[in-house]
Amino acid sequence: MSIKTVGVIGAGTMGNGIAHVFAKSGYQVYLQDVQETFLTRGLETIRKNLERELSKQKITEQTRDAAIKAISPVTERAILAKCDFIVEAASEKLEIKREIFQDLDKLCRPEVILSSNTSSISITKLAAFTKRPDKVIGMHFFNPVPMMKLVEIIRGLATSDETYAAVKSLTEKLEKTPVEVNDAPGFVSNRVLMPLINEAIYAVMEGVATPQAVDEVFKLGMAHPMGPLALADFIGLDVCLDIMRVMLDGLGDPKYRPCPLLIKMVDAGWLGKKSGRGFYQY
Ligand code: NAD
Repeated sequence: MSIKTVGVIGAGTMGNGIAHVFAKSGYQVYLQDVQETFLTRGLETIRKNLERELSKQKITEQTRDAAIKAISPVTERAILAKCDFIVEAASEKLEIKREIFQDLDKLCRPEVILSSNTSSISITKLAAFTKRPDKVIGMHFFNPVPMMKLVEIIRGLATSDETYAAVKSLTEKLEKTPVEVNDAPGFVSNRVLMPLINEAIYAVMEGVATPQAVDEVFKLGMAHPMGPLALADFIGLDVCLDIMRVMLDGLGDPKYRPCPLLIKMVDAGWLGKKSGRGFYQY
């Protein structure tokens, strides 16, 4: 099936970036969220990011204008019935995703692939909410989406070879690099990254070093562009906590126990960059 129209669910940090890259590559995009205000904010971010790419001469004025024109913001999910491909990027809560996948399965044509940008929730589980488990797959983009090259492509237990091949080719059309992984809590990226962030938080909690010192060690000693605590603030401490919990639950190993300081900071509403305070002030 040829893919021309793409539905992106959720206009938050990831959803607006995903809509941006599809629109820039010539796809028609329906960007759907539950409230106008979230769509307005998402579109503002897309405009700002396209302007930045234009100022760096990465895109032309025509590409910017065409990309903006290609995105239709909608609150009605039913409009997504027109789409040839779906990327779900709503909040990282199983109940939210369950409702979305059950509904999409009724709404979308039977040949349409339903993908999720989930960071950690089982693709096999999302697929089982539908009657097309062979057409459900993980398409895990990285933040900030317009800049990051990697897309982790996660095959659920029932994902077909045809679905994998279609999503791999689509990823390449977006000028991104697909890496194939199997379905397991946290996949590869978060399975390895989140325990590092969690351990860095333990080091702060136990007074081993300040957040600045921990980050300096990784920037200067390991050539990381950003230390683990600055990265945690950027991802969102609530998102980090959700992912640790999914891994603890799914893998059952106490080494994935979220650090008590992480839990306390999320309880306080210190979610990182998006709330103005995390390990750093913004
Ligand atoms: P976010 O909180 O910035 O945005 C989520 C958006 O989803 C919000 O605008 C919310 O209104 C919307 N939403 C919630 N329920 C909805 C529904 N029923 N229908 C339509 N829209 C709905 O979150 P985010 O950081 O963009 O994360 C989105 C997804 O991407 C999550 O699954 C997350 O795990 C994953 N992810 C996040 C990152 C990251 O760095 N933040 C990286 C990779 C993947």
